[in-house]
Amino acid sequence: MTHYDVHGVSIPALGFGTWQLRGDGARDGVEHALSLGYRHIDTAQVYKNEAEVGAGLEASDVARGDVFLTTKVWGTNVAPSKLTASVDESLRKLGTDYVDLLLLHWPNDEIELEAQLVALEGVREAGKARLIGVSNYPAGMLRDALELVPDLATDQVEHHVFLEQDRLYDIVRERGMVLTAYSPLAQGAVLEDETIREIADARGVGPAQIALAWILGQDRAVAIPKASSAAHRESNLRAADLALEDDERAALDALTKNRRLVDPDFAPDWSA
Ligand code: NAP
Repeated sequence: MTHYDVHGVSIPALGFGTWQLRGDGARDGVEHALSLGYRHIDTAQVYKNEAEVGAGLEASDVARGDVFLTTKVWGTNVAPSKLTASVDESLRKLGTDYVDLLLLHWPNDEIELEAQLVALEGVREAGKARLIGVSNYPAGMLRDALELVPDLATDQVEHHVFLEQDRLYDIVRERGMVLTAYSPLAQGAVLEDETIREIADARGVGPAQIALAWILGQDRAVAIPKASSAAHRESNLRAADLALEDDERAALDALTKNRRLVDPDFAPDWSA
């Protein structure tokens, strides 16, 4: 599996997403993912599973220091007066003294960006986050954030074979960051696509593996598929070592890339 060095910290290119995993499903899912060989786990305050993710880490034989763990601060907690305490609460639930990556989950224009980022930096300076970054920031907003904090690690955004992120790739490559692709399987829609299925069938692998290999074949790309099924977790991990041929990649590049699935009413103007 590829690892990217981002500001001195190693990030495994394939991680395990935990949105919508709850209770034993989250705990057992994380423990199982680690037993398979995943070393990167993605959660968030709003997923309401940090305690179960922490329990999965605790139950695993894998040492905390060998796992790259991300959580995200929800919008109601980004005010400087609340951010630090909310991260302390996340750490308590996760059963750890630090996360490897701490993200602002969504842009929030009710609080000055600089104030949010200063608070985030404070958490890093206190040793409670090794890296900091953002999520759901369009390119212009990411550039604004980088003016204030030049060493952000990632922008975690929706990205899959049906939605391109070329402007963000330009920035993350220029700045030594990574682009973290969420919903990398388009929440299952990749399974239905004829082009993907043909490539998968010809290789004797699953369509999800082809969709993940398309993302992971791009420089500075990280993907965090979610799977509640053990078989899916195993199959997705194998995709980390699957390289596409040029003609396969070209066929996937040619798919229409404007299908956005995660677009709540508080989302930013994506063209900003
Ligand atoms: P996703 O990973 O694109 O798709 C998950 C769906 O694909 C599930 O229905 C899963 O089924 C299915 N699946 C997984 N592996 C499969 C395989 N090998 N074969 C067939 N089906 C497979 O969607 P997502 O959960 O939206 O995104 C992944 C992660 O990104 C989240 O868990 C979260 O950590 C992160 N995320 C972040 C944000 C953000 O705002 N920053 C937003 C959305 C998501 P089963 O569950 O039945 O196995």
